[in-house]
Amino acid sequence: MPGFFVYEYVHKEGRRAEVRTVLHRAECRWCREGRGHPLNPGLKLGLGRWHGPFDAYPAALSAADAIAAPRCCQACHPA
Ligand SMILES: [Zn+2]
Repeated sequence: MPGFFVYEYVHKEGRRAEVRTVLHRAECRWCREGRGHPLNPGLKLGLGRWHGPFDAYPAALSAADAIAAPRCCQACHPA
């Protein structure tokens, strides 16, 4: 099923923690329709969660933007 997902996660750097978002296509190997990659450490630690599916890129973008300025996945290039 085509579509877009937003991955929200907590990036930790020393004492600082920052919420970040990444846009993915549903079929991306890091997304797998919101199931994520089995090796993703954030999911194992409970630091990440998925939003979606979204039918179109602009909908995913605005949902992500409401949380934190998103970046695009370098594997699936959703933009
Ligand atoms: Zn991706």
